[in-house]
Amino acid sequence: MYISEEEILEHISARPFRLVSEAADEMGVETYVIGGYVRDIFLNRPSKDIDIVVVGSGIELAKQVAAKLGRRAQLAVFKNFGTAQVKCGDLELEFVGARRESYSHDSRKPIVEDGTLEDDQNRRDFTINALALCLNKARYGELVDPFGGLDDMEELTIRTPLDPDITFSDDPLRMMRAIRFATQLGFFIDPLTFDAIIRNRQRIEIISKERIADELNKIVLSPKPSVGFKLLDASGLLPLIFPELCALKGIETREGIGHKDNFAHTLMVLDRLSRTTDNLWLRWAALFHDIGKPATKRFDARLGWTFHNHNFIGAKMVPNIFRKMKLPMNEKMKYVQKLVDLHMRPIVLSDEEVTDSAIRRLLFDAGDDIDDLMLLCEADITSKNPDKVRRFLANFQIVRSKLAEIEEKDRIRNFQPPVTGEEIMCTFGLEPSRPVGVLKEAIKNAILDGIIPNEHDAAYQFMLSRAQKMGLMPVKSDPEC
Ligand code: ATP
Repeated sequence: MYISEEEILEHISARPFRLVSEAADEMGVETYVIGGYVRDIFLNRPSKDIDIVVVGSGIELAKQVAAKLGRRAQLAVFKNFGTAQVKCGDLELEFVGARRESYSHDSRKPIVEDGTLEDDQNRRDFTINALALCLNKARYGELVDPFGGLDDMEELTIRTPLDPDITFSDDPLRMMRAIRFATQLGFFIDPLTFDAIIRNRQRIEIISKERIADELNKIVLSPKPSVGFKLLDASGLLPLIFPELCALKGIETREGIGHKDNFAHTLMVLDRLSRTTDNLWLRWAALFHDIGKPATKRFDARLGWTFHNHNFIGAKMVPNIFRKMKLPMNEKMKYVQKLVDLHMRPIVLSDEEVTDSAIRRLLFDAGDDIDDLMLLCEADITSKNPDKVRRFLANFQIVRSKLAEIEEKDRIRNFQPPVTGEEIMCTFGLEPSRPVGVLKEAIKNAILDGIIPNEHDAAYQFMLSRAQKMGLMPVKSDPEC
């Protein structure tokens, strides 16, 4: 992780940094770039959000810098927070005065006073996030690292700068952040820091669900998300923030028959899926795919453990869990729900002979999400038996090529009924009523079962003959039809 002085200077060589330096010297205030941007220089991660701390007024310095940048800069001042932002090209500089914070027990909102650089570094969550680079000309690029953040980075360690019990009790969101950074960066949490998370876990209750969801999303988007969920479990945070996932834990044995640990299985599916996609909601669908198992678990002397309909029950649980966790109650939730509902279908298909009509029905139900569903199902094959895995994956290949073949022929993926309800009503002089729905459904089923092709004329003829059986006759030409 060694980085030369030249490389550090290179990261703070852009014109806005130079202008911050110039303006701070003119105002006679100390200024530093601090936090994530400095950490990411050493970790070689791209970073565009730049936090500038000033021992003085952040807003005044931001105004001077914006004036020097001229028309290219956009200045936004947040007087209530004592902060200001300058945007210039794709760089975003956040300015704040160095501060000292003290907390009360029932809130993560601190009492804030002006402070020194040291005070400001003391209020940072982790040693690796407390690094500061001086921007004043005389000390340009000098690193201020009071807590050994660089050593911790070398040792891939997340550690709080001060007493971890105080750090976490003051702002319990930091417990989620510790686990999130460990997962994102592939770091370990220092044992003393981790023990303090265990002790302070109940304090998570003062944190808003939205903030917890933000951190969970970052964990889910990490290269190996299982790391985060195992840490959440080991720290005792998981049952407080996502009890339904916790309920998947454990193995029960009866009459010598056990079932798999569905928590371990779910995390394995999530990791496997994460190797093939960065789609946040598809990854969430992996976390939820077996969420209905605890509620549907039964032991049957003949069949052993069963989880009948767990996909259906799981899909029904999704909206409530999303609402509780303040995840979005929009099409993202519907998407997760649909994938949970359908996640057994390709497996069942690949186990039997794959009929065209089953493929058409799968395409109809999954629509444009069929490719995502297939990725989820392939990740769901976690058997330890290599023969079984090989057989399933080979069958999935057959399902995939059948899907492509049928889609090309029948265009079911974005199914639009070739004969509309409007046309049915016009043809038979009907008001909106049950027979219209019956005919529409019959046409759809005839197409999905391969009785007629997905074309208007064939569907129209089919409708006429089915209507006749229902005692319906076409009315004489309606000019509106
Ligand atoms: P990311 O951008 O991945 O969320 P980051 O650390 O770069 O991570 P921010 O969350 O914007 O970005 O935080 C910027 C800096 O502010 C951190 O590096 C840290 O020094 C400090 N910080 C942020 N949140 C907290 C907190 N809850 N407690 C203490 N310090 C914090």
